[in-house]
Amino acid sequence: MNPLLHLDYIPALESLGDDFYDLVAAAEFPQHRLRFRNDDLLARLGLEQAAISDGHFIAAFGQFRGREPFLALRYHGYQFGQYNPFLGDGRGFLYGQVRGIDGELYDLGTKGSGPTPYSRGGDGRLTLKGGVREVLAAEALHALGVTTSRTLSLVETGEALWRGDEPSPTRSSVMVRFSRSHIRFGSFERLHYHDRPDLMAKLLEHVIDVYYPGPRLYRDRPERFLAFYDELVDRVAALAAQWMAVGFCHGVLNTDNMSITAESFDYGPYAFIDRYDPSFTAAYFDHGGRYSYGNQPGICQLNLKALQTPLADLMAAADLEQLLTSYPKRYEQHYQTRMLAKLGLTSLTQNLPQDLAQDLVSETLTLLEAMAVGYHDFFLALTQQFSPQWRDQSEAIFATSLAASHPEAAHQLDTWRRTYHRSLQSLPPEAMATAADQLGRTNPKIVLLRPNIEAIWEPITLTDDWQPFYQLLQDLQHPFAG
Ligand code: AMP
Ligand code: MG
Repeated sequence: MNPLLHLDYIPALESLGDDFYDLVAAAEFPQHRLRFRNDDLLARLGLEQAAISDGHFIAAFGQFRGREPFLALRYHGYQFGQYNPFLGDGRGFLYGQVRGIDGELYDLGTKGSGPTPYSRGGDGRLTLKGGVREVLAAEALHALGVTTSRTLSLVETGEALWRGDEPSPTRSSVMVRFSRSHIRFGSFERLHYHDRPDLMAKLLEHVIDVYYPGPRLYRDRPERFLAFYDELVDRVAALAAQWMAVGFCHGVLNTDNMSITAESFDYGPYAFIDRYDPSFTAAYFDHGGRYSYGNQPGICQLNLKALQTPLADLMAAADLEQLLTSYPKRYEQHYQTRMLAKLGLTSLTQNLPQDLAQDLVSETLTLLEAMAVGYHDFFLALTQQFSPQWRDQSEAIFATSLAASHPEAAHQLDTWRRTYHRSLQSLPPEAMATAADQLGRTNPKIVLLRPNIEAIWEPITLTDDWQPFYQLLQDLQHPFAG
């Protein structure tokens, strides 16, 4: 018996009826090599790591034996601002939905499992490098406190794929993603396009029932729908703030990549920023910089605005618009909280006057733009050099390395130093230990920069050596350790 096939599977989406998906079969692959299994997630599914063999993983999530039906979900979306009614799961399907030991429902969804009615001429496959990149991104973001999907498994499948953006032929893989839900903004856009408010109401009721415990309390009252949108606006603002604070550029924020639970997912051409640069763009095909690092909060707001069109079939457009006006303020609040944590100050903000906190965050960004230093390097240097003496002596702050080696930003550093000093002074002396602790728990020692990915990919391609990949993964999963 394979325990992976006997989880607490619940056909929640399937039972909504076949208007929402197509039944599909998995591709048969010539080879199955398990390259990654997420034992951390097994525990969340109530499974003992030792009870699950690699063979179990391969049978369930590489050969796809013993569990059906598989559902290719239907959705549309705005891609780079253009409406596309030909989307849908084109290289994946919903494998199953499971109840975690926390009582929550999770989706197991594939990527690279073969063609579907939505493949649009594509091969339905995932490159091994694409799979490796998604595993790394999801684990790294999770460890940094970003609300994200994870990867349950990655199996190499022994095919040769041709891709424009990788040296080809390139190796193939199939991945199983673990997420809250794969219902997207685009799932609602599709139902509006087909003029099916009845189905949209059904889907929204489902979303609220399963993923929105707050709005669920309204039961049958009409406020329920607006309460959902209100909470979604807040969750999306929080997610955008998380990306910005950890220095992550998703790369492709089309509405089919926006989860209705506001969880981050689908890691294609993403990148972590090196220097702080709002115009940094991750996707090579994003010529206009639409989804640049700095545009992410605004694009998320635009996507929330686009979602109003379908939702207006069910609730008053003016009410939706009214709720969205709170987005910029909410985003700022979430972002401030995250950035103050990176400066060592979050759990102490009660004592920090709000205008001082705002000045500090904005001057930090000004400094980072002026100074030729890495975003993550700056916060790591702050963490490593921080001293309680900084509270007493403004000149002691970054007195050594940073000040001397960055004459180009001497003026901005001076301004920032005075504001940071004032911030520390507004706290009692005994708060300095808490600040040091906060810095250490927020600023990673290791970041998934592109060269780090290339460095682990090279031994895989040259000698099939996976050790550097496992080591990097381990480091990313414990970014604050030791
Ligand atoms: P993405 O940009 O990864 O979110 O993908 C956009 C759409 O293209 C989704 O509907 C995918 O399922 C589909 N897609 C991407 N790559 C392939 C492929 N190799 N074969 C078939 N469909 C694909
Ligand atoms: Mg996608």
